[in-house]
Amino acid sequence: MSTKDRYIRVRSEVDTACAQVGRKPEEVLLLAVSKTVDLDQIQEAIEGGANAFGENRPDELLRKSAAFPDQSWHFIGNIQSRRIGDIVSAADLIHSVSKAEHLPKIDRAAAKIDKVQPVLLEVNVSGEASKSGFHPSEVLAVIEEAAALPAVRIQGLMTMAPRADEEAIETSFCGLARLRDELQRQLDDKGIDVTLSDISMGMTEDWPQAIERGTTIVRVGRAIFDSSFE
Ligand SMILES: *Cc1c(COP(=O)(O)O)cnc(C)c1O
Repeated sequence: MSTKDRYIRVRSEVDTACAQVGRKPEEVLLLAVSKTVDLDQIQEAIEGGANAFGENRPDELLRKSAAFPDQSWHFIGNIQSRRIGDIVSAADLIHSVSKAEHLPKIDRAAAKIDKVQPVLLEVNVSGEASKSGFHPSEVLAVIEEAAALPAVRIQGLMTMAPRADEEAIETSFCGLARLRDELQRQLDDKGIDVTLSDISMGMTEDWPQAIERGTTIVRVGRAIFDSSFE
């Protein structure tokens, strides 16, 4: 099976999963995580209909987005302060903001190029010490501060589920969806003009559960790009 065929298959499985839980397929973006592959594979995925790609290293984000400027490029990796300018220059959406101190830096970098940068806040729902992300209790304060930054738009939340049993994954996805709803209520009550429209959760192993729990972006790498997924 080719990358093109694998992309088509995953997209069709995503559409079916949406239909099964009464959601519209166009509510769910299939982000093709291309971090392990080169331009030829990206080209194949595009031929299968892919139009949004995720990268976790700034150099690769710059190189691949320059090669395919008509596609949407998302940054999903660990953020280092000194690379924020590069990330902002190329990313349509940053999924992985996990430090409050990075937000004013993103704001300055975006303002410099007349851009408003959409970002998601990464939340460590499962509480695993090895995972990055804000503690759920911190997120409201972070959003309130970020709401004052003119060149940053907080667009939603992201999480990585634990690599564990279905129940732990379920707890994590439900937890993020519930947190989004709660935060939106609190923001509305306070009159803060932020809409948490996106939830980014679900990868190769667990995206069907994420669709059930209301994700709007699934980040899928291996099921599209790894030839051992037949
Ligand atoms: C690599 C990666 C993915 C994709 O993982 P797969 O298991 O290959 O689907 C999703 N999100 C993040 C943050 C990643 O680093």
